[in-house]
Amino acid sequence: MSRYTGPVCRLCRTEQKKLMLKGARCRSDKCAINKKLPAPGKDPKSRAGKRSDYGIQLREKQKLKRIYGMQEKQFSLFFERALRMPGITGENLFVLLERRLDNVVYRLRFAVSRRQARQLVLHGHIIVNGKKINIPSYLVKAEDEIAVANPSKNLAFVKEALKEFDKSGVMPWLKLEANDMKGKFLAAPRRSDIRDMADIKEQMIVELYSK
Ligand code: SF4
Repeated sequence: MSRYTGPVCRLCRTEQKKLMLKGARCRSDKCAINKKLPAPGKDPKSRAGKRSDYGIQLREKQKLKRIYGMQEKQFSLFFERALRMPGITGENLFVLLERRLDNVVYRLRFAVSRRQARQLVLHGHIIVNGKKINIPSYLVKAEDEIAVANPSKNLAFVKEALKEFDKSGVMPWLKLEANDMKGKFLAAPRRSDIRDMADIKEQMIVELYSK
C-alpha cells in the first residue's frame, strides 16, 4: 500500500487524537483536535455506535502506526521483531519504534515532526557515529551519537525546530547539545518513560496481531 499523501489533520480527526503530525500547528489553536472538529464523514450530533473489540484494536494500531509515520508492512515487521524479543511484546514494540532514526531525530528537536525528520534522514542530513545514514527505519542503539551533518547545520528549518523546542527539553533517554546540533541516545526507554504515549493501549495491538 502506498504512503498516505492526503491532509494529515484528517488522520487525527479519524482517530480523534492529536497525532502531532504538523509541527507548530499541532501546538496552536488552529489544530483540528483543539477545535473539536468531528471525524471525517461523521455528523457531530450523531451518537457514536458501539465499536467491536476488533474495531477498537484496529484503531489503536492505526494510531500508533500513524504517529510513527509507518506503512502497514513495515509496522507488522516491527511487531514480528518485537514478538521475537524477550519480555513483553507491547513494550518491545515501543522500544523498537523509539529507536527508529527518524523518531530519534524528531525527539532530539532537529525537526518539528516525524515526517520532517524522515525527510532530513532521507536527504542525507543526519550522521550517526560520524557516518551518514539515510534510512529512516535504521535502529539507533545505546550510546549512539546522532548529529546534523556539518553542511546541513545552516538549514533554517533545523534551526527553527531547535528554537521552537528550546524550553521543552528532550526525553530522559536522550541527551542534546543544541549548539552543536548533536545528541546521544543514552539507552532504550522503558515503556513508562514514554509519557506522551501513555494513552496508547499496546496490549490491544498485540491482541489484534494474535488473531
Ligand atoms: Fe493533528 Fe497536528 Fe493537525 Fe492537530 S494540527 S490535527 S495534532 S496534525
